[in-house]
Amino acid sequence: MARRISIFGSTGSIGQNTVDLIQRDPDAYDVVALTGGANIALLAEQARVLRADIAITAYDDRLEDLRAALAGSGVEVASGAQALCDAADRPADWVMSAIVGAAGLYPGFAALRHGGSLALANKESLVTAGPLLLAEARAHGARILPVDSEHSAVFQALVGEDMDAVERIVITASGGPFRDWPLEAIAKATLAEAVAHPNWDMGQRISIDSASMFNKALELIETREFFGLDPARIEAVVHPGSIVHALVGFKDGALMAHLGAPDMRHAIGYALHWPERRDLPVARLDLAAIGSLSFERPDEARFPALRLAREVMATGGRAGAVFNAAKEAALDAFIAGKIGFLDMAAVVEATLEGMDRDGSLSIPPQSLDCVANVDHLARDMAQRAAADRAARR
Ligand code: NAD
Ligand code: MG
Repeated sequence: MARRISIFGSTGSIGQNTVDLIQRDPDAYDVVALTGGANIALLAEQARVLRADIAITAYDDRLEDLRAALAGSGVEVASGAQALCDAADRPADWVMSAIVGAAGLYPGFAALRHGGSLALANKESLVTAGPLLLAEARAHGARILPVDSEHSAVFQALVGEDMDAVERIVITASGGPFRDWPLEAIAKATLAEAVAHPNWDMGQRISIDSASMFNKALELIETREFFGLDPARIEAVVHPGSIVHALVGFKDGALMAHLGAPDMRHAIGYALHWPERRDLPVARLDLAAIGSLSFERPDEARFPALRLAREVMATGGRAGAVFNAAKEAALDAFIAGKIGFLDMAAVVEATLEGMDRDGSLSIPPQSLDCVANVDHLARDMAQRAAADRAARR
């Protein structure tokens, strides 16, 4: 029987890679929902090719374009945040959560109710609402399969192992385009320079987050939430080649590393076929051609996001939701050309401090609505902090 699948964020970088894998074996899948944003042409094409039941754009003002693009195809259309959650209510055996940002939280949550598998690329879900998400999965017997390459690597290194035997988890960071730049140059970095990732081809937002190490900061928190390890046992190491994605250290001193070409179809395919391994169209590594692997300690002066991630992990509670919302607002301001590259970390730090004036940061959010409320307040505060810095430029 064909597996029912839905892809949230099918038009993005992860979404297109997922569609690529599904398309190679169309009879194996019955596509329920595909969702996107403003790229209506791509969404409509995907929906026609994969014969989806429904296609949804996040934007209400694009619904008529989507309807026109899918006229005569038999594919239903809808728009808006509520329609995304309704689509997640449609039963599916495997759901890809690949919307970027906090907007991915609600649909991913809704999808867990069917008790199937949620392939989680949207790291923001774990950072902002990790304990709620894991509890929801447990309550419905659903499974969360990590798709972030580092977390997929850790997940694979842990097969057959006992968490009690794990001493540490090491995730790697390429160091991004600014790894060797002096601080003064990073301060003046342009949008185009920040988007140009040396190894991975990703969406614009995550590429900039990689340059600032905010992506690695989110991933440290993601590791903490998903694998439940003490923060002191979670490390990030700079590995410019992006060949080793993560390592798990065991209490006998062994380190199990996961190596692979920098191609997200590996992690997506692993989550798609789990617990089996199937052939995937990814390049095979030629170790002799690679020659050597190098590692360095990350420089927290250059990348304050990592220091902030440590503070967030130590605080727990709402700190992750504040951190992510402030980071998203700061990123918006950087993309809009309002603030400089290093201002992003300053904005996030000011927001974490501001939101903790009443000492509420460490209180765990009790519901998704609470997370949404914290997100909203933090975004507001971060926007003000960004406007302040913009005025001082
Ligand atoms: P992307 O920007 O390429 O695509 C994002 C998708 O989300 C698009 O389909 C877009 O239409 C949709 N979207 C954007 N805003 C939306 C909103 N407000 N409501 C509903 N839909 C919206 O992003 P990406 O690089 O594919 O990343 C997706 C997620 O996967 C992110 O959470 C990212 O951190 C994570 N991730 C990506 C990579 C990668 O290689 N690209 C690797 C690891 C993790
Ligand atoms: Mg990653």
